[in-house]
Formats: sequence, C-alpha cells, structure tokens
Amino acid sequence: MSAYFEEVLKEKFDGKRYYPISSYLKKYFGEKTIKLAIDGGFTCPNRDGSKGFGGCIFCSDTGSGEFSSHIEDQIELYKKKWPRAKYLAYFQNHTNTYASPTELREKYYQILEHKEIEGLVIGTRPDCLDNEILDLLEEINKKYFLWVELGLQTIHDETAKLINRCYDYEVFEKAISDLEKRKIKTVVHLILGLPGENREMMLESVKTVGSIKNLFGIKLHMLNVVKGSVLEKLYPNYCSFSSIEEYVDLVTECIQLIPDTITIHRLTADVPRPLLISPVWSFNKRTILNSIDQKLNLLDTYQGKLLG
Ligand code: SF4
Repeated sequence: MSAYFEEVLKEKFDGKRYYPISSYLKKYFGEKTIKLAIDGGFTCPNRDGSKGFGGCIFCSDTGSGEFSSHIEDQIELYKKKWPRAKYLAYFQNHTNTYASPTELREKYYQILEHKEIEGLVIGTRPDCLDNEILDLLEEINKKYFLWVELGLQTIHDETAKLINRCYDYEVFEKAISDLEKRKIKTVVHLILGLPGENREMMLESVKTVGSIKNLFGIKLHMLNVVKGSVLEKLYPNYCSFSSIEEYVDLVTECIQLIPDTITIHRLTADVPRPLLISPVWSFNKRTILNSIDQKLNLLDTYQGKLLG
C-alpha cells in the first residue's frame, strides 16, 4: 500500500478506500450528519411537457408529501439512535428548482428556519437553473451549508436521447460552470448500465465527471428497472448487470478513476423491494457495499489510484 494512502487518505476516508460523504460531513459538522429526504411538492419539466413527456425512462413517478411533519417524525426516530446527530434537509423528489424564485425562496427558507436543520441538499436538472435561481442559491450558500445535485446519468448524448433525458451535455456543462463560479458545491449523479452503453462509455462518463473543476461529489449506481417506469414497458426483460460480481468489478474501476478530493455519495441504488424488477440482487445494499470494500482490499487499491 502506498505511503500516500497510509499517511493522508486513510484518515480522510475514515477507514474506507474511498471518500464517503459521511466522513466529510462528520469532520465538517463534528457529529454524524443525516440527510432527511423531504418532498417540496415540485414536479418535473420532463413530465409536464415543458421539456418532455413521460420523464426519463427509468424514473418512477413517486408521489408528494407533507414535508414539515416528516422532518419532525424523522428526527424523532434518529434521535433515539444518534442523540447528537446534525441534519440536512434533502429536497429529493422530482426537480427541486422547478418553480418561481419567489416560491423557491419561501420553501427553502421555511425549512432552513427549522432549528435542527443545518443546511440544504437540492436535487435538480441542469436546465432548471436560470440566473435568478442561481442568485438565490448563491445567497443561501453564503449563509448555510448547501450542495446541489444534478442528475446527469451519462455524458453521452445518444444515450441521453434513448433515456429521454431531454437536455444535452452542453446544458450540463453550462450549469456546472455557473454553479462553480458561484462557489456552490455540486454533486453529479451517474447511472451505470444504461441501455446501449458499454464499459468504455461508462468509464468515460466517470472520468469526464471526475475531471470537473472543484466538483464536490459523485453518486453512482446501477440502472434499476422499477415498477411503473417507462423502462419496464420498453424493455421488460432488461437487466443492467447480470451479477453482483460484474457490477462490483466495474464500480471498483470507477472508484480508482475518481480524484480523491471528490466525495462519494452513493455506490449502489436504494429501490424499495416491492418496486424493484431488476437486477433482482440489487436490493441487497449491504452485500454490494461490502463486496466493493472487499474487492478494493483484495486489489490493494483506493480512490484515484489509477490517476497516478
Ligand atoms: S429522473 Fe429527474 S429529470 Fe428525469 S423524469 Fe425523473 S425527476 Fe424528472
């Protein structure tokens, strides 16, 4: 094992061979920090016709909820196990910047006023970040902890068409540059095993995203076919990876291609079992994550190793 890993990365990675966001947050806030998924009642322009219809083919249309009571309920539960934990509110469902700046301001600050909430995580599309919205995010970023998540899934426009993402890579590049100029932390979401993509294409997406200037984080997971998605209708027998081993082999290579400054937010999917069609083994999150750790140990490697 290299001295650089032993002396620098081991402590930063909190015992892992990659940089988990949990380690970053523990150091930043001084305590375990938990993301509370909330539903801000937003929709998606790729569903209502303003950008496209039907949504990305893998996306299941999950319903909305009353977020303020959810926060209380979730904190009460977590407090039993982690009494000193800190909390971030995660606007996760649909496109969470898809509203007027006035409405967004109201929704974001309503949550930020909650005494237990330290900051926000906002999941959105790169084509829903105009200047007024970026100004609002910049303002919040100066006062609170914030990161923005962009669902890119792939850098390849031909795949983007196939999955009905309804924006081009150029749009993503502009959003990334706008966020970076405003010093807003950004996390990019990639999906492995999209239809039509081979291993080289997936690795190219990971390498390209990994090379983005000052990128804060990456989320990776396998494509899941879920009940109620367009993917289920289009490709009912589709399976992104035939085995855990095949998936783990790819993910360990991806990890080695991501710079060690970038936090890793996800390495496998989290689909509720009743909704999952394939890969059938993918509900077993703990086994997949353990297998990734084992493989990295076996190869005696770590995040960024292949970058030299
Ligand atoms: S994945 Fe995101 S952008 Fe695509 S349809 Fe679902 S909510 Fe909209």
